[in-house]
Amino acid sequence: MAAGGCFCGNIRIEYNGKSVMAGICHCQDCRKLTGSIFSYSFAINSADLKVTGTPKGVPKTADSGNAIKNYFCPDCGTPLFGRRVKGDEPDGDTIILRAGIFDNPELLNTQKPGAELYTENRLDWLAPIEGAAQITGMMELP
Ligand SMILES: [Zn+2]
Ligand SMILES: [Zn+2]
Repeated sequence: MAAGGCFCGNIRIEYNGKSVMAGICHCQDCRKLTGSIFSYSFAINSADLKVTGTPKGVPKTADSGNAIKNYFCPDCGTPLFGRRVKGDEPDGDTIILRAGIFDNPELLNTQKPGAELYTENRLDWLAPIEGAAQITGMMELP
């Protein structure tokens, strides 16, 4: 089990620790939603996600054209996860979990990124990650 949560601790997140994919994204939306210069996320099956507490969902049409809802702690604002939506309903079974919310750093050490997305936006002083597929724009989610 991989366990994590938000900055203030009001929202707790668990999943089985098995990611379908681990990826870094350099898109502008990911910068805004994480407050950092890229995001690192695990794609997992929605059935494997356990959430304690009530995150706030913020809808937006992403650069990719996908309608996405990103979920944050309503009290401290930590970005927790995102998923594709059609209106208010989930679209597909994939959850994009923000990797930085997990408590045990070993989870991050053992799950290296398989891909970097929106590499055309990567900052000039950042090097590509060895072994990660370099992808222009978004990749299709399972
Ligand atoms: Zn919080
Ligand atoms: Zn992104």
